[in-house]
Amino acid sequence: MPSISPSHDVLIAGAGPVGLFLACELRLAGCSVLVLERDADPHAPLKALPFGLRGLSVPTIESLDRRGLLQPLKDRAARKDIPGAAHWMKQPRRAGGHFAGIQFFHDQVDPGQWPWRLPDPVETLAADMASIEAVLYERAEALGVEIRRGRPVEAVAQSDEGVTVYAGGQAFLGQWLVGCDGGRSAVRKAMGIGFTGTAPEFTGYSALVELEDPALLAPGRHYTATGMYTFIAPGTIAMVDFDGGASHRTPATREHVEAVLRKVSGAPVTVTSLELATTWTDRAYLAADYRKGRVLLAGDAAHVHSPLGGQGLNLGLGDAMNLGWKLAAAIRGRAPADLLDSYARERRPVAAQILDWSRAQVALMRPEPASRALEAIVRDMIATHDGATYFAGRVWGVGLRYDLGDAHPLVGRSAPDFALADATRLNRHLHDGNSLLLDFNARAALRAIADRWPGQLAYLAAEADNRLGVDAMLIRPDGIVAWASSAAQAEADPSPAIKRWLGAPTA
Ligand SMILES: Cc1cc2nc3c(=O)[nH]c(=O)nc-3n(C[C@H](O)[C@H](O)[C@H](O)COP(=O)(O)OP(=O)(O)OC[C@H]3O[C@@H](n4cnc5c(N)ncnc54)[C@H](O)[C@@H]3O)c2cc1C
Repeated sequence: MPSISPSHDVLIAGAGPVGLFLACELRLAGCSVLVLERDADPHAPLKALPFGLRGLSVPTIESLDRRGLLQPLKDRAARKDIPGAAHWMKQPRRAGGHFAGIQFFHDQVDPGQWPWRLPDPVETLAADMASIEAVLYERAEALGVEIRRGRPVEAVAQSDEGVTVYAGGQAFLGQWLVGCDGGRSAVRKAMGIGFTGTAPEFTGYSALVELEDPALLAPGRHYTATGMYTFIAPGTIAMVDFDGGASHRTPATREHVEAVLRKVSGAPVTVTSLELATTWTDRAYLAADYRKGRVLLAGDAAHVHSPLGGQGLNLGLGDAMNLGWKLAAAIRGRAPADLLDSYARERRPVAAQILDWSRAQVALMRPEPASRALEAIVRDMIATHDGATYFAGRVWGVGLRYDLGDAHPLVGRSAPDFALADATRLNRHLHDGNSLLLDFNARAALRAIADRWPGQLAYLAAEADNRLGVDAMLIRPDGIVAWASSAAQAEADPSPAIKRWLGAPTA
């Protein structure tokens, strides 16, 4: 009989970036949180540069900024040699990202296409996974999140009252469980939640090697008749072998990496030593449900796809930002009936779109004439201003808008980070994780409305350099605009929108 630990509001399986960020969100909202992590050691070579490099999208950067985590991450990442790790950062033109390896550049992107975004221009950022996890871990610890390492979740049982998790020979009790335990999620499997989509077409490799003669490989990315490879001298290799994903589960030995490299490059290379290697595939699967009773999924546990285009982490952190405040409200008994289900309703379509984005890249990469023809067309399009702007919008996540059923064009979008007259920016006022009623006209009536949700809804009367024609707006804890009025609707009442997201007034 395993010993039973005291109960927590929320148990989280997995101390990856998504589990840690979600833990911070829940703790910020006052919930007790226990994170159960399989690995005893948080450090791993694949989290360090060069392979730990992660491109962060605009919604991620905004979320981190809204919790005061962006600057600590920048500070920490600045101590690493990020440009040295990413060959694309050393080019004379500033690369904005890529589609199946075809780059677009900042100087061709037209930010005017996103009129509701502030500040302008759009910021992008890359950081190593070790830094991302370290910053989130430090915040989680400071907030009082309990983290137990060396505790792989093995089994889950739920009742109407709560969830029991069996991990590392011990039983843990929680009101809720969130599986943030990666693509092979034990939580998802234990709950019998379907995970369906498209099977892999290839095995991808990231490897650090020593080559007998590096000059045999051309630097840069190359599509060949047998696959794709990217070579950065002296020995950083990424390559794709269309083998149906067969080699993903077998260890990548020196001999194997050499054989695949010879196959996809057509060059008679000799790998004299293999320092580090990992494999990945383009399987694209989505969880049928994000919630089963008191168990929820977030991050790779809910969706997996190829790392092409660097979206998975961003998608997962977006899940955490969306779920945290909703689950906390449910735990406090203040959530409107539908609130928790809006998590899957809002986030699953975003994941489905990203999965399709990664599938479209695979279609362009296949070693066949039709794909080469498609590649030529995409190259032409991405080199235009409209093309670069379109791809930037998708890759940077700038166009994200949840369908919240409101005519105002800002509703459902990320709140603009207004520059306020007191020299602060709006994001600074979202650090505590509450909803915010922003009022550019300092109206007593709006303040009185906000006062009816004490501890849940902050009120901010402010003046901004550029209001974007907005008079007032309701911002959810995740930074999404839930209601907005323009100058022409000065008497508009936010109360119905507040009730929809925060429930009945408490004062
Ligand atoms: C080569 C590569 C490059 C990538 N580049 C990018 C990029 O540029 N941008 C981007 O957005 N994404 C990128 N990704 C994807 C990104 O790394 C993942 O989407 C992200 O790490 C998912 O975070 P997560 O917390 O959901 O899962 P994970 O990072 O997988 O973390 C899951 C955690 O759960 C733990 N765990 C597993 N099983 C259990 C269990 N049974 N019990 C308890 N704990 C468990 C694991 O040890 C781990 O700590 C890349 C991925 C790869 C492979």
